[in-house]
Amino acid sequence: MESQAVFSVIEVVLNRPLFQCFDYKLEGSYADDIVGARVEVNIAGSREIGIIYKVKQDSSLPFAKLKSARLLDNKDIFAPDVHKMLSFASKYYLYPLGQCYVSALPKLLRDGKEAAYGEIPALAATKEGLEADVKNIKAKVQAQILTLLKEGPVRRKELRERGFSAQAENALIKKGFAVKVNLALSLKATQSTAAPSVLKEEPPVLNPEQSVAVETICAAKGYQAFLLNGVTGSGKTEVYLQVIAAVLRKGQSALVLVPEIALTPQTFERFYNRFNVPVSSMHSALSDRERLDAFLDMQRGGPAILIGTRSALFTPIPNLGLIVIDEEHDGSFKQTDGFRYHARSLALVRAKAAGCKIILGSATPSLESVENALCGKFTKLDLTIRAGGASLPQFKLIDLKNEPLTPGIKTGIGLELENRIGEETARGNQVLLFLNRRGYSHHLFCPHCGKIFTCPNCDNPLTVHKNEGRLKCHVCDNVFAMPVVCPDCGSREFMENGYGTEQVEEFLRLRYPDVGIERIDRDSVNSKAELEKRLERIKEGKSKIMLGTQMLAKGHDFPDVTLVGILDIDSGLFSDDFRALESTAQLLTQVSGRAGRAQKQGEVIIQSYHPENELLNRLITPNIAYFDIALDLLLIRKNLNLPPFSYQAFLLSNSEDRVKAFAYLQELNSCLQKKAGTYEGLSLGPVISDKMEKRHNRYHFHILVSAIRRDVLNAFLNETVKIEQDNPPKNDVRFAIEVDPLFLY
Ligand code: ADP
Ligand code: ZN
Ligand code: ZN
Repeated sequence: MESQAVFSVIEVVLNRPLFQCFDYKLEGSYADDIVGARVEVNIAGSREIGIIYKVKQDSSLPFAKLKSARLLDNKDIFAPDVHKMLSFASKYYLYPLGQCYVSALPKLLRDGKEAAYGEIPALAATKEGLEADVKNIKAKVQAQILTLLKEGPVRRKELRERGFSAQAENALIKKGFAVKVNLALSLKATQSTAAPSVLKEEPPVLNPEQSVAVETICAAKGYQAFLLNGVTGSGKTEVYLQVIAAVLRKGQSALVLVPEIALTPQTFERFYNRFNVPVSSMHSALSDRERLDAFLDMQRGGPAILIGTRSALFTPIPNLGLIVIDEEHDGSFKQTDGFRYHARSLALVRAKAAGCKIILGSATPSLESVENALCGKFTKLDLTIRAGGASLPQFKLIDLKNEPLTPGIKTGIGLELENRIGEETARGNQVLLFLNRRGYSHHLFCPHCGKIFTCPNCDNPLTVHKNEGRLKCHVCDNVFAMPVVCPDCGSREFMENGYGTEQVEEFLRLRYPDVGIERIDRDSVNSKAELEKRLERIKEGKSKIMLGTQMLAKGHDFPDVTLVGILDIDSGLFSDDFRALESTAQLLTQVSGRAGRAQKQGEVIIQSYHPENELLNRLITPNIAYFDIALDLLLIRKNLNLPPFSYQAFLLSNSEDRVKAFAYLQELNSCLQKKAGTYEGLSLGPVISDKMEKRHNRYHFHILVSAIRRDVLNAFLNETVKIEQDNPPKNDVRFAIEVDPLFLY
């Protein structure tokens, strides 16, 4: 007699913009441990990947109507703390749970691939390599690689992260010193055995402030949040490393989140060199396969470290003992499309769920974190002196109105700064110049009819890129040929306005032909290898002047820089964004922090047409630390009831059809206006165009919602979602909610 097949009923969340689960049946008898496994289901004729959310006794649907799901994993592929974090996120950000889950997965798992290692390309020393004396290898990089390989095979990914080129690796292979191997084969055999010591190298002796920080953090039991407020170069990273060591010794793992830009070979080196445990990484320079490998590495358990950018936060890590968020003020922890979360906010939730400690470190903490320290949610730890005895730089504010009209000033370099650059480079010192504007000229216009050349897809003037002989849109990245004839009036003459880094570089090359100049921005540096090459020339002292954008402002140590020039501070002082002063103070402090890192005294020259500006003067006053300014700025926020003393969200719409994008929000707004009055302390703005209404060929509108209480805002947004789900946007209108926006639309 044929026995009846046994089925379980499961509730599944799918990657759909819907706040509901779907019931399916699964052949076999399953318990709750299957929650969090992936299934493949059929929905509306298409094959989709879903996540099991619940195992149920029965369904509200008749059993015969339930469709079958196919199980892809034999167990939860997330982790209990990740489940808690994601379900919090879905409610907090009003983003469907299924979409939160799917965003949390590496792409290959999202696509239904098996949660298993594929090939892991690595390099291993051959017998000849093991016997060879590295001193006899002339090529420095090859010698460095072989030194590493002598200790065991190393993943190609790690070699790349540490800044080694494929060229050098191939040269070692050719010499017969190294061979390509597949590490996946050996991974299966070696379950992470406890290393004799978690440390590979002796750590430096901590200074008293660092010791207090490390001891206080290590003494914490369970969840506790720390704000590590340490001036640039004060040894915050060293504090992380020593706390991590303590965590690893307990058999636990650590998760370190960093801004994308901070993932330099120096960062990786410090972790790879220090620890005897697996160090994995997750960031945008990895292939989909490598991201999955990192996910699997961590899932295996055992003491390990994961370093990554914001999305690494979702990686399952059994026995998580510590989360570090380095440069916690950095805007790149906020995702600005799809699942619009802030990794700092969610990391706090995860740490609580995992019952582990969390360190938020910065020389320039966000006002949100400063407020949390003031009200006792975070324990603040200060590092006020620079490790290694370096002193903080001196500031000089220069009034550009008083500078003579030299050729230099047309590209943003006043005479005084010009002279100081000459003096410092002549002494063999290095100079760092900061300008947050790429390209040659800001825009191109026709002097006969006044036409400004703008991007056809965006309300944005096109930037002149002279080296490439093209115009570029810095919003949608489209490029266009330089015009020959004005399409409006037929003129053949054009003029340019506003300078960018490319033009400053041109001036510097003419003015200081013999000192070596490195421009570091998204145009001149299009790969990690290129960036490394430039940084190497700076490190070796071959180049004396570096000029760049944000890319230069963070994460790099330049011991021989004695002069920092900030070419244009004014754009950050006069902005309609209430966060502009905070970010200007942060940027200025961070850029200044690049000067005088070693034994040499540094100077920072700030050029402005508004030297009377109060914030600017506060920033350059000796002994006024960033933190004091943060307190001032917080007071202003408090008086104006701005975040973090109130809570904001945007309701966003966009479409290729301007009228439809506007109409959708307008209708939603008229429904919401009727309800808004019943929510205490809530204000609902009108529908307005984004500052740049047209972007990527789509028209953008928004409504600002703000409330004095978080729960009131959340309740109102829930009501908004209900209305939206009953009347979803049609055609190509897209709707989104952004909670805790960092940038105003
Ligand atoms: P931050 O992360 O605050 O910018 P780092 O941890 O990178 O600072 O430290 C700055 C420099 O000082 C690094 O070169 C680091 O190796 C060194 N350093 C940090 N702590 C110590 C210490 N206790 N003794 C000696 N050198 C240290
Ligand atoms: Zn014209
Ligand atoms: Zn554009």
